[in-house]
Amino acid sequence: MSKATFSPLDLYKILPQTNCRKCHLPSCLAFAAAIVGGSKRLKECPDLDQGRLADFSAKYQSPEAKETNQAEFIDKLQEKMAGLDLAKVAPRIGATIKGETIIINSLGKDFILDHQGNMTSECHIIPWVQAPLLSYITHKSHAEISGSWISFREIKGGIEWQGLFTSRCEEPLRKLADDNPDLLADLITLFMGRAVDWYEADIALILYPLPKIPILICYQAPEDDLQSKLTIFFDACCNTNLHIKSIYTLCAGLVQMFAKIAEHHS
Ligand code: SF4
Repeated sequence: MSKATFSPLDLYKILPQTNCRKCHLPSCLAFAAAIVGGSKRLKECPDLDQGRLADFSAKYQSPEAKETNQAEFIDKLQEKMAGLDLAKVAPRIGATIKGETIIINSLGKDFILDHQGNMTSECHIIPWVQAPLLSYITHKSHAEISGSWISFREIKGGIEWQGLFTSRCEEPLRKLADDNPDLLADLITLFMGRAVDWYEADIALILYPLPKIPILICYQAPEDDLQSKLTIFFDACCNTNLHIKSIYTLCAGLVQMFAKIAEHHS
């Protein structure tokens, strides 16, 4: 019988929870997320209790196995690509076809993929975009953009990922916006976003990390004793168009990229 897959929160429970930063991440929760996302290795936590890890591995898919799974995951997605009729898929996902390739726009930049899932782009290949992009193309169902906005926790599986989404996506982006008051407005220009005036906030903008994955970022600046507030919403179609893990990976990658942009600007 195959073992259950685990979420970052499942793994977090067996970590030392000291937030000692020896793994070069700010917290054990961030480390758990990085393991699930494939960017960290368990051996990078020197204080991990091997007994607890063994118990965990008996119940769940082994974390060590999962470490190699990110590469395998991409391999599998690439295999799935080979079986797709890209000409049929393209109109459903808001992409176009050119010769033997499919072209998908992410934040105003074109990504070109061949039948083997090999990707090239007019900009640098951004590693975090590869898995969500392949997942998006090979996802079994696709819905049209609805114009109705939902929170992360309303997406299927979102409640389980909500803690990480807040700590790795909304919270760091809120702090970035606090420290760089022009950043969100700049994102509109840099990434072909659109400001909206129907949401009551200091700034609200829509970005398209993938053609049918629109996100709405709403930011209220700090005032007097009130802390700033930032919320990311999703078009209801995201519920159908991408798995929750890929939505989380996409948003966490975006926020990291925005942080780099803010560094260059300051
Ligand atoms: S090294 Fe281990 S205990 Fe320390 S923060 Fe990282 S995961 Fe937590």
